[in-house]
Amino acid sequence: MKFPLIKDVASTDVIHVDITDSISKAMDVMIEHNHRNVIVKDAQRYKILTVTDVLKIQNDDFDLNLPLKSLSLEIIPTILVDANILDTIEYLNNPMEYICAVNEDNSLYGLVTHTDITSHIDPHTLMDNYRLIDFLKIGRKMKIVSKDTFISNILSDIIDGSSDHVLVVDDMKPVGILTTKDLMLLIKQKEKLNVEVSTFMSSPVESIDKNASIKEALEFINKKHYKRVVVVDEDGKVISVISQKDLISLTYSKWATLVKEYQEELREINSMLANKTIEYETIASTDNLTGLYNRYKFSELYNSTYTSMIQRHNSMSLILIDIDNFKSVNDTFGHNIGDKALVNVSRTLSGALRNIDIIARWGGEEFIVLLPTADLNRAVKIAEDLRVEIELLKVDIIGHVSVSLGVAEVQEGEEMSDVIHRADKALYLAKNSGKNCVKTQEDV
Ligand code: GH3
Ligand code: MG
Ligand code: MG
Repeated sequence: MKFPLIKDVASTDVIHVDITDSISKAMDVMIEHNHRNVIVKDAQRYKILTVTDVLKIQNDDFDLNLPLKSLSLEIIPTILVDANILDTIEYLNNPMEYICAVNEDNSLYGLVTHTDITSHIDPHTLMDNYRLIDFLKIGRKMKIVSKDTFISNILSDIIDGSSDHVLVVDDMKPVGILTTKDLMLLIKQKEKLNVEVSTFMSSPVESIDKNASIKEALEFINKKHYKRVVVVDEDGKVISVISQKDLISLTYSKWATLVKEYQEELREINSMLANKTIEYETIASTDNLTGLYNRYKFSELYNSTYTSMIQRHNSMSLILIDIDNFKSVNDTFGHNIGDKALVNVSRTLSGALRNIDIIARWGGEEFIVLLPTADLNRAVKIAEDLRVEIELLKVDIIGHVSVSLGVAEVQEGEEMSDVIHRADKALYLAKNSGKNCVKTQEDV
């Protein structure tokens, strides 16, 4: 998942004035550009003047010709243009709705508003299944007035900062909306405020059904550039007004939860797969009965050992082992006892070998051993040890068994089958020499 950077989402269409400019000039710039706010540069810091501030100023009978520095303006947090959009999440719970995107040298790049953030969320994947009705409790501080209320009566309500709009209703059906921006325009144009709200409200109000999904609501808001959705019931009566900010907070928290859940799920699947892989690898590389490596795994290990032995100019030898007269063991005691004998012999051989040696079940009652670092002489000694160990072994019911062994040393540049062929010939000689003995390629 890739999250956009601040520089990708910030709007660069930002207007700014200087702290030494007058309030009136700031208002002119806002009206001219139809912006709800203007950035005020105060040395190295950025402050903001919003329409709500202007309304408060008006209410306090402030002289609009005074410079902006005579106001106590809010400082806007700043964020580097290279930061990630996720870094803005903490600001969503901040009453300040804006973040200044700044370059490395603290010069102004643009402004990040909630609109900028929503237009870059992909609500598709996460918000499709959540309906507005599920979250209606978050639509708070809704200001509703009936259409015959006087504007002068709602002015003081609106500037207490709790709401930046008033929803105008007729029998609880939304008929218009009056925003702080509209009010500022009225003040600037010195309109009379003791008139009914319906004279200046924006109408009609587009509402959205309570059963709409959050995704639909966000798309609706983005398309219309609204700051809030008016949620209505099946009779068209207003239930709630949900701000864009609440929708975003909701989206992000849900998103964060989903990502977390998804990660946990992925972790689980990964460890399951890892365990399965080990399980399958074991199944694929070992012999069922004896637990020794199988032919396939032996060949693989032979190749890797061969490469490292050659690199280090080390010797390497190989032994083929075949149990003597095993057919008669089966014939006398049955196949199951024969199996037990095979397991016993396997364990004894493994136990008698060095850690670096590799043993595998080569066929029915045949074993193969690879001896890294061992030349022919060393290999013969090891083979003789193995022979003695087996001779000493007492197998259940059967008593004693013996093995014949053929030894060969690996030559540089030859194939595995070549050395096995020599070991096999030595083994054949051992069988023909009375069994229970060791023969080498040199005896052949
Ligand atoms: P030699 O001394 O010449 O090796 O005689 P042998 O009887 O061991 O030789 P042969 O190859 O004729 O017979 C091998 C026997 O090993 C045949 C088969 O019944 C037995 N055998 C092979 N695989 C298994 C197995 O998995 N379990 C059991 N119980 N017997 C097996
Ligand atoms: Mg055999
Ligand atoms: Mg045999």
